[in-house]
Amino acid sequence: MEMWEQELRNELDQLTGKSQRRVLSQVEHADRPLLVMNGRRMLNLASNDYLGLAGDERLKRASADAVAHYGAGATASRLIVGNHPLYLEAERALTLWKKSEAGLILQSGYAANTGIIAALIGRSGTVYSDKLNHASIVDGIVLSRAEHLRYRHNDLSHLEALLKKTPAHKRKLIVTDTVFSMDGDMARLHDLVTLKQRYNAILMVDEAHGSGVFGPNGEGFVHALKLQDQVDVQMGTFSKALGCYGAYVTGSELLIDYLTNKMRSFIFSTALPPAVLGSIREAIRVVQEERFRRERLQETAADFRTALSSLGFDTCQSRAQIVPVRIGSNVRTVKFSQRLQEEGIAAIPVRPPTVPENEARIRFTVTALHEPDELTWAVGKIAALGKEFGVIE
Ligand code: PMP
Repeated sequence: MEMWEQELRNELDQLTGKSQRRVLSQVEHADRPLLVMNGRRMLNLASNDYLGLAGDERLKRASADAVAHYGAGATASRLIVGNHPLYLEAERALTLWKKSEAGLILQSGYAANTGIIAALIGRSGTVYSDKLNHASIVDGIVLSRAEHLRYRHNDLSHLEALLKKTPAHKRKLIVTDTVFSMDGDMARLHDLVTLKQRYNAILMVDEAHGSGVFGPNGEGFVHALKLQDQVDVQMGTFSKALGCYGAYVTGSELLIDYLTNKMRSFIFSTALPPAVLGSIREAIRVVQEERFRRERLQETAADFRTALSSLGFDTCQSRAQIVPVRIGSNVRTVKFSQRLQEEGIAAIPVRPPTVPENEARIRFTVTALHEPDELTWAVGKIAALGKEFGVIE
């Protein structure tokens, strides 16, 4: 074994020692919300298909039609010859849905966050980022080479103290998830808008877990609070509640024009395949029309959260369809999730560095496809395991 290979092996062994080693599970989709994983049939409480659209016949048909018309691949980046007609249609639908001046469809949420942040701010600027922001935001900040100041989760006095210290002439970007992906709580957007105005900062939000779920037409959490005119950069994904793949950014015409010229992950990467654009366009239509999916999701998620917290589980500050249950150590959390799987429930253990040390948790996600009796059954199993592990009394 070469020296570098030995070093890689040692690092993997260290991860194993800390119960942080990741391995791929074999997933075979069955009837949603059930799945077959590693040969076992389970209730899926781990997917981000919040509205149950990933398997929707209309989205599947829209993808198939797009392939039939435009082929399998986009053949180039959008600025070369990859800007096929479905982009125009999907972006028109996007801006009408989000009621924004302009919008751009991007290759993925990860590419969106890394690209937007690095385009908007450079070495001489400062980024203020909530400590629980998604990894793609963190990577975007690193890539931008800007000064990186992290404020304690949702602690806006901490944020203000950091803003106060920064010289007025510096460009400032405040960035936050709207719905936090591992905690299921929400950003304090009203207060963030106040601070952005007071300190002349740009405000960017990540609606990955808010798009489709919140807002009168599923536009996102920003629209639920009627703050769409106050937030400068709204990024979101089509890969979760909208059931497809890809991401978007909406904002002013100036912003979108600038990103088209400066955003490297957009410029230097092949355009999305027609199949994806076809389903995105259909998902934007369905998400606005079928409000019942959102209503059902809100009700089901609230019942599930209340049931778990009244049993004594620590569900963090969750107020959304993401319901974490804090377990503590990595070892216990991994074992808990294995036992859940044995009992027929798919839910993932979330460990550091995704969450702070000793705050490992099981992340449950509820979707509009879950029936009340399925969730009652799941709560019963989770409660029994909670007692077995001494997490609840
Ligand atoms: N932002 C957040 C908050 C996310 O949870 C995710 C996906 N886990 C992303 C961005 C990345 O999106 P995508 O999966 O489309 O790359």
